[in-house]
Amino acid sequence: MQEPGTINLEIMPVPETERRHVLVIGAGLVGLSSALWLQKTGHRVTIIDRELPLPGASYEQACSYGNACTVAPQSVVPVATPGIAWRVPRMLLDPLGPLAIVWRYLPHLGPWMRAFLASSSREEVERIAAILASLLSQADAGWRPLIADAGASHLERHDGCLYLYKTEAQFQAAEADISLRERNCVRLDRLDARSIHDLEPNLAPLYHKGVMFKDAYTFSSPKLLAIALAEAIQRHGGTVVAGEATGLETIETGIQVWVAGSLIKADHVVVAGGAWSRALAEEVGDRPLLDTERGYHVLFPSAGALLTRPVCYPEHGFYMTPMADGLRAAGTVELGGLSAPPNPGRTVMIRKGVQTLLPGAGEGTREWLGFRPSMPDSLPVIGNSPTSPRVTYAFGHGHLGLTLAGITGRLVADLVACQPPILDVASLRPHRFGRSGRRLA
Ligand SMILES: Cc1cc2nc3c(=O)[nH]c(=O)nc-3n(C[C@H](O)[C@H](O)[C@H](O)COP(=O)(O)OP(=O)(O)OC[C@H]3O[C@@H](n4cnc5c(N)ncnc54)[C@H](O)[C@@H]3O)c2cc1C
Repeated sequence: MQEPGTINLEIMPVPETERRHVLVIGAGLVGLSSALWLQKTGHRVTIIDRELPLPGASYEQACSYGNACTVAPQSVVPVATPGIAWRVPRMLLDPLGPLAIVWRYLPHLGPWMRAFLASSSREEVERIAAILASLLSQADAGWRPLIADAGASHLERHDGCLYLYKTEAQFQAAEADISLRERNCVRLDRLDARSIHDLEPNLAPLYHKGVMFKDAYTFSSPKLLAIALAEAIQRHGGTVVAGEATGLETIETGIQVWVAGSLIKADHVVVAGGAWSRALAEEVGDRPLLDTERGYHVLFPSAGALLTRPVCYPEHGFYMTPMADGLRAAGTVELGGLSAPPNPGRTVMIRKGVQTLLPGAGEGTREWLGFRPSMPDSLPVIGNSPTSPRVTYAFGHGHLGLTLAGITGRLVADLVACQPPILDVASLRPHRFGRSGRRLA
């Protein structure tokens, strides 16, 4: 990947003869962004989802609905870092810890877990951080034209993001991550307890030190953002279709998919189905090593004014983000696949955490379980199918889908137009892991 820096993201429309009909499967933020960037290139777009982000829809099955609302350019540190193999057992035994597992899902996790652990070596973490830094350096630029197009700038709030530590030992332990971020050009300030109090006086004074990430910002409602993007797609002549896409198949004249009993044909398909993308990829013969890191949120409706910015104690594993509906406490990781029911213990743990960290937060009301689409190396898949030249993949954004949706859409537009992408996406190819979880050269 290139060094972080300024890249011109402006896009040239393709000639009339190269304009195609592209189906985008998945109206999460990644699919919506891809659809809008494809329209900017001149293609005709149809976007399909079981539940589209339209006014009146719940949209709750999309991971894009329930996240911590934060564009997080500081997030160059992958989930698997050196020593994780020793830390995981202790975290799993702590009922209030940030990591949990649905034990009956364990047999399905073998290759993913093998690749996850192999990604935690010092060399791998440096390599992955540099790739993430390259993507993250363009995250905001990737969003700008889409936000303007969708008239969604009123949803943005630029106040940074705060990470807090309760003891000197915790802060020292975080130094390796902090210095990895600094080496990858993340702008941050180290804060003492007094400065933290001045920034967020409503927090319980449990903090000892903290870090402010100055370039982070939030959207006050990811759902309203998604609705605004879907409306922009329709204004530009795009079609939206509600229903489950199945039977993806390449045919002589193009590619086709069944949706709610109708066959839709197109020239090209972008699979942006989030955590469900593996099933779609398997239909054309591909097997990306995608799984899910389940995450939860609890809404505290009367606590929205208590914080100015997202606040996270990494020890607790969730963000507390002020948003349109109140304060959303969102995060934690549960390895457990797509079909296990929600685990109430996870939201009990979030509720207890918020009541300790932010005593005035009041009662939490709405709870939500969502499915992060996660690759074991914390890097998304952005690339063409090795099996079908008519399929492009955009999924696997893990903890960073809201942040990276804009730049992902821009890269998808290059890939569909058969142009060299503005960032090198070789490290993001769908088949970087073999079936056993070994990373392929
Ligand atoms: C608790 C939590 C907090 C998070 N916080 C942040 C954060 O602060 N910042 C950040 O950057 N990221 C965050 N994330 C991650 C982020 O939300 C995800 O990476 C992102 O939403 C993924 O977007 P997506 O478009 O790939 O998938 P999704 O939003 O899940 O969208 C996929 C869509 O595809 C549809 N679909 C799938 N298969 C089919 C099919 N066969 N037919 C029809 N439709 C189909 C689904 O219905 C769904 O709507 C968080 C995640 C969680 C769980």
